[in-house]
Amino acid sequence: MSNDKETRQFEAEVSQILKLMVHSMYSNQEVFLRELISNASDAIDKLRFEALSDEELFEGQTDLKIEVEVDKEAATVTIRDTGIGMSRQEVTDNIGTIARSGTRQFLENLTGDQKKDSRLIGQFGVGFYSAFIVSDKVVLTTRRAGEKEAVRWESDGEGEYSLEVIEKEARGTEIVLYLREECSEFLEAMRLERVIRRYSDHISFPIFLIEESTETDEETPEEDGEESGQDIRQVNQASALWTRKSWDIEDEEYQSFYKHVARAFDEPLHWIHNQVEGRLKFTLLLYLPTAPPFDFQMPDQERAGGVKLYVKRVFVLDDAEMFLPRYLRFIRGVVDSDDLPLNVSRELLQDNRVVATIRSTATKKVLKMLQEISKDEEKYQTFWSSFGPILKEGIVEEPSKKEEVAALLRFASTAEAEAKQTVSLDAYKERMKEGQEAIYYVTADTYAAAVASPHLEIFKAQGVEVLVLTDAIDEWVVSHLREFDETPLRSVDRGALDLDSLGNCDEEQEPESESPKVDEEWKEVVEAVKSSLGDAVKEVRMSKRLTDSPSCLVREEWEMGSRMRRILTRAGEEVPDGTPTLELNPTHPLVVRLKSIEADELTEWAQLFLDQASLSEGADLEAPAVFVRRLNDLMGRLALEKVGEEETAGI
Ligand code: ADP
Ligand code: MG
Repeated sequence: MSNDKETRQFEAEVSQILKLMVHSMYSNQEVFLRELISNASDAIDKLRFEALSDEELFEGQTDLKIEVEVDKEAATVTIRDTGIGMSRQEVTDNIGTIARSGTRQFLENLTGDQKKDSRLIGQFGVGFYSAFIVSDKVVLTTRRAGEKEAVRWESDGEGEYSLEVIEKEARGTEIVLYLREECSEFLEAMRLERVIRRYSDHISFPIFLIEESTETDEETPEEDGEESGQDIRQVNQASALWTRKSWDIEDEEYQSFYKHVARAFDEPLHWIHNQVEGRLKFTLLLYLPTAPPFDFQMPDQERAGGVKLYVKRVFVLDDAEMFLPRYLRFIRGVVDSDDLPLNVSRELLQDNRVVATIRSTATKKVLKMLQEISKDEEKYQTFWSSFGPILKEGIVEEPSKKEEVAALLRFASTAEAEAKQTVSLDAYKERMKEGQEAIYYVTADTYAAAVASPHLEIFKAQGVEVLVLTDAIDEWVVSHLREFDETPLRSVDRGALDLDSLGNCDEEQEPESESPKVDEEWKEVVEAVKSSLGDAVKEVRMSKRLTDSPSCLVREEWEMGSRMRRILTRAGEEVPDGTPTLELNPTHPLVVRLKSIEADELTEWAQLFLDQASLSEGADLEAPAVFVRRLNDLMGRLALEKVGEEETAGI
């Protein structure tokens, strides 16, 4: 162990953040206090947790508190905690040295808008640096509970910091901020008190504000803050918010607690607070965020889900994901149980009866909350656009909740003018036509592609609404959903579609007798097209779907749709064989033409119809150039014929 003071350079990205703190956060300076108090509170939580298995860590000092001390003379504000502290290694790892994963993302997400950017600070785990918003020098001294060696870290935020081993009696961390001249407002105790009340009232440890009284002019030598000229008062309630009765809690208190537990900077969209006292005793305070955190969609990152677990008011675990199903992983908040052992481990929680009960209650409550919010369309849209695709997973993940989750789903639809997902299955059912037996949907990469699909032609003609599914997981979801409220869901491109049973079908057509006639009339063409396409299609048949396009591809009811195939193929997954059926539009002139042309030309048209149908499904052609050449050949042929006709007609 060397006591040598060493000086090191900040990594470039850290320097960049520091500069930013100093120069562009002046409109929201007070956040520094919230961040440092939040860190202090986390540190005490950690101590209390680690002490569960090693009581020695308390070092005989169980006084858990946070102090904010202001010294006008020295122009400093000091934030002190009796938490876990940091070892030398931890200081280098955590404090302004190594660019942590959040650092780069923070920089990438900056908008230049001060208000928005200041909100990013806490979210990206760069809260400590906010000390430099108001300070031109920061001195941090810390001793990890149970260790002898203490560390002093100092920096002016200009690119360098120093580290040195020192002695420190008290366990925990002390941060001295040497305030910039223009930040002297924070030397006013009243100002600090207001900020603490505003942002940190929910902190469950007492926060004391200590003010050096200025009227003392005796020359008493300073003795470890024990001098008489101090005014000390507690400024927060220091009771865990969720233990209080909901009718005693203001919305603002709930909101600021949300920001603390979720490390979030948005407002919660909604929350539920339940104190359950039955066979088991537990409290749920669960929040629905407005917006997903920046790293929400990233694979295996720490904040991918979960709530904070407390056992009898003692913090035990962050990101406890076992209290809610995966499809509700956007929920944040606290679970506090009286029935779990304090020394519970993540492994122990995985297969635990108490956890299972709490989880089932929490799931029920959250689904009920969503149902409640769905009555407010605008609010629900906010939720849906943030977390809709995640909620959808519930259809697959929890079959027993299928109907409930399905009722919460929203889809884009051909009945709406825009691509927004606003239509519920209930609303769709209410608008179904007389005689309509299924809820129809189309899947495509985009809304525009979907509504232009040839498969929709007959639906448009018949005025039948079709749900438009464009999210990557949609097909997977509907394949598990299968039906809603006893009405089957059916893709527009599956099976031998027949909408004739609908009440609005033309009177003069007799559906029963028509089919055989059509079949007879087209028998030769169908056979010729099939034999020229060979194994590329399963079957060729005349379509009842198409009114404009010459052709489309359809699959069997149980088969995987084209979009799902594409997604899986691109992801390098194996896709089950699913040769499509080609349907031809008997009313299209180019199809009618097939009846009267030579076999070799028919082969070309057949291939063109197949390629076109694939293209309109959004598929990639194996040889686009061949398609283009064929198209041009056939058009050339038509053009020549036209000239020929005109010449014979003597034009
Ligand atoms: P975050 O709190 O999001 O992790 P911060 O920049 O606020 O990011 O803090 C960085 C890390 O420094 C914390 O995760 C913690 O490990 C450590 N730290 C900060 N303040 C304290 C403190 N008062 N006591 C112990 N550790 C601390
Ligand atoms: Mg922090």
